[in-house]
Amino acid sequence: MTEATRVLVLNAGSSSVKYQLIDMVDGERLAAGLVEKIGERTGRLVHTPHGAPSREAVQTFPDHSSALKAVAEELAEDGHGLDSPELAAVGHRVVHGGKRFTAPTVITEEVLTEIRRLVPVAPLHNPANITGIEVARSLRPDLPQVAVFDTAFHTTVPEHAARYAIDQKTADQHRVRRYGFHGTSHQYVSRATARLLGKDPAEVNVIVLHLGNGASASAVAGGVCVDTSMGLTPLEGLVMGTRSGDLDPGVIFHLHRVGGLSIDEIDDLLNRRSGLLGLCGDNDMREIIRRKEAGDQDAALAFDAYVHRLRKYLGGYYAVLGRVDAIAFTAGVGENAAPVRAAATAGLEELGIVVDPELNSVRSSSARFISPEHARVAVAVVPTDEELEIAQQAFALVREG
Ligand code: AMP
Repeated sequence: MTEATRVLVLNAGSSSVKYQLIDMVDGERLAAGLVEKIGERTGRLVHTPHGAPSREAVQTFPDHSSALKAVAEELAEDGHGLDSPELAAVGHRVVHGGKRFTAPTVITEEVLTEIRRLVPVAPLHNPANITGIEVARSLRPDLPQVAVFDTAFHTTVPEHAARYAIDQKTADQHRVRRYGFHGTSHQYVSRATARLLGKDPAEVNVIVLHLGNGASASAVAGGVCVDTSMGLTPLEGLVMGTRSGDLDPGVIFHLHRVGGLSIDEIDDLLNRRSGLLGLCGDNDMREIIRRKEAGDQDAALAFDAYVHRLRKYLGGYYAVLGRVDAIAFTAGVGENAAPVRAAATAGLEELGIVVDPELNSVRSSSARFISPEHARVAVAVVPTDEELEIAQQAFALVREG
């Protein structure tokens, strides 16, 4: 009998689906791809089989169902159809697992109902994740479908860090608390950082800075998350590509009452027209650094505001942890933007944080230290791999049976 060692990872967004087929024997990506602009007139599917050129199809994908069927056909063309006996599971990224889902979970009707119940706290994300699950189930009903939650790694955050200081009856009635996001990445990177140090995750305290278009920080003590910067939604915390991160909640009342903006307009402003984009008109850190170096004042302000917020979280989580063994930079900006890493850590020698400019300027896709040898706090660049983490968690769960 063929052994089932492969996991299909699906990350269904509101108008896109990203996927990877991973063989768990050696972690090899057998295929990866993306369908974008689902529901628009012109959609696009890009499918990249392992070791072969990408195939691109420009056509209409009216809904997630048609998109996933097209993905299944692409996989079948490479001999990796969903009917393959080598497929062990589908691992779904699910953004919001609330308080209930603290670990990866095999999806049953009851689990799906609970994920649906969480839609009011994740209206932008959970509906697409649910559709992805439903379609994958319909295509291969006998295959285990596993949900891996973005919030799960943060369910260990203690109540005093997870609660907002508001009336608790009201908070509980509406499930208002800090959940945190990017958990799969924080978990993967904190473990990979321990490995880089040659230690067990239980032995080390790590501050993880996940700096992508969305950005979040977390404080991980001995492998357990004790605080994270995102909250009820992924809007809290760091300055991001298009999201404001922290602000006085009074800004919202002011914009509504005095500015005359509707709640939906404020939602759009803070989630899609703020952050780096709001500060300087660009949300790509490459462009911001280029403009700043050319003397552009708005870009300099955006860069400095981004770094200032980052340093506040770095200092805050240093105090939360008490002892910090490592700081890990990850995701698009964290992995690639040496000037951000340098500015975020500058002048912190008293805290044992030093970055070697030469190591910091090295470009590499491998996990590496950028602090000098024997530094009190190791500073590292650790590429994240959420898909592999989802595949590993899903595979481990179906193996346990
Ligand atoms: P992610 O969400 O992790 O894919 O990160 C995307 C972001 O990473 C982009 O919006 C860029 O701002 C940033 N990024 C990617 N490459 C670079 C680079 N070489 N230098 C600076 N920023 C980068």
